[in-house]
Amino acid sequence: MPGQDRRKNKKLRRKKINFNKGYTPWNNKLQFELGAEADPSNGANIRVTRPEMEIYEAALTQHKGAANTLPTRLRPRHSYKEETEEQEDCSENIIVNFSKLKDFIKKCIKHRCRNHSKVDVAISKRMGLCISLRAMCEKCHFDIRSCKVYTECEKKSRGPASGYLHEAMTLAVLKTKMGGTDLQMALACLNIKVPSLQLISTNVNKQCDKMIELNEAAMIKNQQFVQEFNNCIGKENEVDVETDTAYNNRNQVGYEAGTQSFCPLIEKNTGLNLLMTMSTANKLCNKKINCSHNECKKTYSSEETISSSEGKLAEKILQKMNDHKILKVKSVTSDASAQLSKVVREFGKKSGNSIRYYQCFVHRMRTVQKYIKNLTFSKLQPGYDRDFFRQRLATCIRSRVRLELVRIHKISTQHHFATLAQSAIKNIVSCFSGNHANCKENSLACCAHLDTHNTKFLPYGVYLNLSVVDKKKIESALNKSLSLDVLNKISSLHTTNQCESLHHRVFTYAPKSVLHKRNFHGLCHSACHSSTFGTGKSSILLAKSLGLDFSKCAPFFKFMIRKDIIALYYSQRKKTAKYKIQKFFGKV
Ligand SMILES: [Zn+2]
Ligand SMILES: [Zn+2]
Ligand SMILES: [Zn+2]
Repeated sequence: MPGQDRRKNKKLRRKKINFNKGYTPWNNKLQFELGAEADPSNGANIRVTRPEMEIYEAALTQHKGAANTLPTRLRPRHSYKEETEEQEDCSENIIVNFSKLKDFIKKCIKHRCRNHSKVDVAISKRMGLCISLRAMCEKCHFDIRSCKVYTECEKKSRGPASGYLHEAMTLAVLKTKMGGTDLQMALACLNIKVPSLQLISTNVNKQCDKMIELNEAAMIKNQQFVQEFNNCIGKENEVDVETDTAYNNRNQVGYEAGTQSFCPLIEKNTGLNLLMTMSTANKLCNKKINCSHNECKKTYSSEETISSSEGKLAEKILQKMNDHKILKVKSVTSDASAQLSKVVREFGKKSGNSIRYYQCFVHRMRTVQKYIKNLTFSKLQPGYDRDFFRQRLATCIRSRVRLELVRIHKISTQHHFATLAQSAIKNIVSCFSGNHANCKENSLACCAHLDTHNTKFLPYGVYLNLSVVDKKKIESALNKSLSLDVLNKISSLHTTNQCESLHHRVFTYAPKSVLHKRNFHGLCHSACHSSTFGTGKSSILLAKSLGLDFSKCAPFFKFMIRKDIIALYYSQRKKTAKYKIQKFFGKV
């Protein structure tokens, strides 16, 4: 055959060229040993492989060689992305209502054709999470066009009724730290087709507005509750309140990152810490272009500093209380803020009934501790660690002062409190030094007269042995931080603890890491409503107001009730002695 011959000829010709006798072999008769390691000094001996695309691209950004060289010897292989076509995927999960699904199956059973293999079920209509199913037979005329397998809310306005799922899914956004994208993430992880962010935010906006409405009404109810409470115990129609402002960003000197602030007003009469009223400041506008800020959610001018909102908001909420005409504010407790005492004083003058201003007791105690901690003692006992000693002494004095004040508060009237407290505080240093001569007269906390008395609570477990100069230093520090004027200001021993715990809840619902341009006010109201009723009850009330109908044995209802019971259990457990001891030793 001619083809075969030609190939043979080719082979021969090649052989002739390559293997002529007498030629010097290319390796000059040197034999390479198999398995010998490549010589790293000679780059030619290293096996070259293609790098991965990611590594190559990362190396290219940091490559410092000449412009026409590459960081690696070879380029990575080009990869072609496979384009996936959008198609109905039967592996997806869908949410269906159980009773609606039952109805659908019952309808399908009516199909009387012999050949069941020709029946097909498909999703006929999709509205976000809400799905309609279709079943049809190719042979006969059996066709269930569109069967809704979701429940609808009670119709309130014109247009199609909104699906239960759409209203319900965003409840979690209002009642947890979750945002819209987190909700999408959760649904996507369940392999459910996610609704659009626009749909979610429309619902969240609507529900936030609803929440504001509900909480405003709840706060009025709270005020009426206190009014009736006062009636029952025969008090005048007055209320003691605490207030404190929180910012979405900590205020720093020179630069202000904060744009939003929240200020609640909580009563101290009933012991239930009911929220009387609240207010927020928001510097952010949620509209995109040319906003005159009449319609948007911006409530605070950009020119003013956010830290000045403390006074403004306090005035606003006091005015609100006045406008409701249900209760009169008798006293306001807040942390030591110059703005607030001025606002309270001026508002009292303006409204005609004087309001007393108290400072937060706990904040003042912290200041005392700081003062003592910053003292420099001239001489200490040999072997004492300076910092440890100061720290322990500060803690000791703080808890002693606290105990004295609490006990004096129990037995004294408003007028005597400051003088009694002052003599007790003056006595502390001599008592701690082992001189109990005046303790019987001045102290309500010293227990040197008891057999069980020991000095374990003091630094290094022994009485203080300080020079006269150092004792004077402590006394003057105490005098400075707890002067008669200050003692009068904290004489109610009120704290702003409840405000702080509410702040915590607010910034759980509206995390500081996310900007809530539009819904900050709504989320604050949501947090307040939750603190009044409990998260579960509040969610139920919100759901009801949105027209979500559910039975008492629905999973939603059961979970919400259970959530409140668990929260109550934990809050009570926190008050027990066992928990406090465990927490002290760091076991919780
Ligand atoms: Zn059929
Ligand atoms: Zn605006
Ligand atoms: Zn004593």
